[in-house]
Amino acid sequence: MLLTISTTHRPATDLGYLLHKNPARLQTEELSFGKGFVFYPEASADQCTAALLIEIDPLALVRGRGPAGEGGQLEQYVNDRPYAANSFLSVAMGRMFTTAMSGRSKERQELADTAIPFSAFLPVIAVRGGEDLVRRLFEPLGYTFAVQGSRLDEKFPEWGRSPYVSLTVSGTVRLQDLLTHLYVLIPVLDNEKHYWVAQDEIEKLLKRGEGWLPQHPEKDLIVSRYLKRQRHLTREALTRLLEDDAPSEETDGAPVKLETTERAPSLHTQRLQVVLSAIQATGAERVLDLGCGEGKLLRLLLAEKQFESILGMDVSWRSLEIAKERLRLDELPERQRGRIELIQGSLTYRDQRLNGFDAAAIVEVIEHLDAARLATFERIVFEFARPKHVVLTTPNAEYNTVFGTLPAGDFRHGDHRFEWKRAEFETWATGVAGRFGYEVRFEPVGPLDAERGAPTQMAIFSQKQVAA
Ligand code: SAH
Repeated sequence: MLLTISTTHRPATDLGYLLHKNPARLQTEELSFGKGFVFYPEASADQCTAALLIEIDPLALVRGRGPAGEGGQLEQYVNDRPYAANSFLSVAMGRMFTTAMSGRSKERQELADTAIPFSAFLPVIAVRGGEDLVRRLFEPLGYTFAVQGSRLDEKFPEWGRSPYVSLTVSGTVRLQDLLTHLYVLIPVLDNEKHYWVAQDEIEKLLKRGEGWLPQHPEKDLIVSRYLKRQRHLTREALTRLLEDDAPSEETDGAPVKLETTERAPSLHTQRLQVVLSAIQATGAERVLDLGCGEGKLLRLLLAEKQFESILGMDVSWRSLEIAKERLRLDELPERQRGRIELIQGSLTYRDQRLNGFDAAAIVEVIEHLDAARLATFERIVFEFARPKHVVLTTPNAEYNTVFGTLPAGDFRHGDHRFEWKRAEFETWATGVAGRFGYEVRFEPVGPLDAERGAPTQMAIFSQKQVAA
């Protein structure tokens, strides 16, 4: 199994510094499935090529962690794994190009940070999905590509196509990008059995996909193929990728800009109190806090005996970790601990765990969703989870000018995708209520301005048969 990486950036031999592998020496590494070698078939100032060759030991694959043979004994020993580029190549890259993949270079940091012309050549790779798949995967990342020899046999075209091709991928990128793209996309092209797929693969995928995978138009395909269609893993990875869409400062409901705009310490607190009262008034015993963030509302809910079962969900793993700590979940007495659960999930995926609740709070969350995902969100909450009551808040855009410090037309938070005027919110909420069989009423939250209303707007939805 072979991969070569070439550059024409002068002096091309600097590739040796970028890969931390001296062009004059053969480097060898013992891997659990065989041996890896790095050497340079050419190394001149004009053109330099590094080769990563993997010698797979087919017996090592069968021993220990290797893939168990499904199609009979022979297949365990005789297969394409030693020859065609596949996930083992990614593993070897991770081992032998560790520093380069992390974007560091002791001697040539500036060059490592610079996009230079590269060409990667995979003499044999099984592309399960044809040239079209190659295009969909590599073109959005700015590469050109060439695919050669997809006939099973040149002399007998009637035998049809073979998945095995030679693939060249070229582009002007940072070496780190080229390596991480290949690391993730080689197993995706091959789409064969990994010997690994496990929970920690999500971590690897997310780490290697940082900065490009969340924006890739074929994100879903890449994730599901990479994780070999293990649905629970795929789903978790996708939600965590979504989390990447959110800015990193996004940790609680008093977001960055609000510090200057909602200076009164209490708008947020006030909002949570109002939401709490609204939920109490429904008589709910089983409650959801969707987009619970760091768990401020959860704390209030937990303090009320009325609520027997409380489920907090957020897409952000980090927020959930903070919530868990702030609520001191680990220290709660057993009975209390049994009342509350925190889960990671996204309001844009259908989720059975959200079924069967009396009420849901969705506080300052919808404005974080892409407008295009709003219709999905509506179905997830009002059609599938379908709590009897939903208490939902969002900023009132009209009020923004009252803050004074916020430039006109600006949102209160960098991650807000939209902020609605009162009429816009009411139109949306009334539409939702009508479509899903709820009644809705509105309440302002926070100090009222005669013309512009209150800073926060709240809608309280109740299922029609419940309200009646
Ligand atoms: N409700 C909390 C947090 C509001 S901030 C409070 O009022 O304090 C918005 C929260 O929505 C963030 O925690 C963010 O991670 C979460 N969020 C954004 N998109 C989401 C999605 N698709 N599914 C679930 N939560 C999401």
